[in-house]
Amino acid sequence: MIIFTVRGWQIQSDQYTDELLNEWRKWLKQGKLSPDMTYLKDRNRPMILLFLSKIKESGDQAFIPYLKLWGKVDYKKVREEIRKTIDVLENKKPIDVQVVQERTESIKEALKGSAPQDLLLKCWECGKRFPFTIGEQQFYKQKGFTDPKRCKACRNQGNDMFF
Ligand SMILES: [Zn+2]
Repeated sequence: MIIFTVRGWQIQSDQYTDELLNEWRKWLKQGKLSPDMTYLKDRNRPMILLFLSKIKESGDQAFIPYLKLWGKVDYKKVREEIRKTIDVLENKKPIDVQVVQERTESIKEALKGSAPQDLLLKCWECGKRFPFTIGEQQFYKQKGFTDPKRCKACRNQGNDMFF
């Protein structure tokens, strides 16, 4: 079973999206006109959304052609977000400072190691990640249960044979 701490995941996706952004900057400097954007398809969705937020926050209109190329190859949900991002850049719309600040704070906390240690477990049945909060962890430990194998939705749906 793969276990990610929320903290670890947060730090990792923050670093990774920075790398993606730096790569785009590098391409711009090199004058790369039409990079193949399919590499961004099928990536972890929250990570991709974070990447798009960072592009928005950069306010850099030079990214627009890349966004347009990307929009051509990705799925509808992502495409919508890409369109919103282009809109923000084209019209120089103000970004939500509070969201940025909260994110920065929470990453700082995570790096310090004082963030809550909620775990993200992977459901054996549907394969989705689900949170196993500190509270739940304590409860399970108290009761002598092993960690839950399935997400709440699957647990509610099926029998409780393997809880
Ligand atoms: Zn499930």
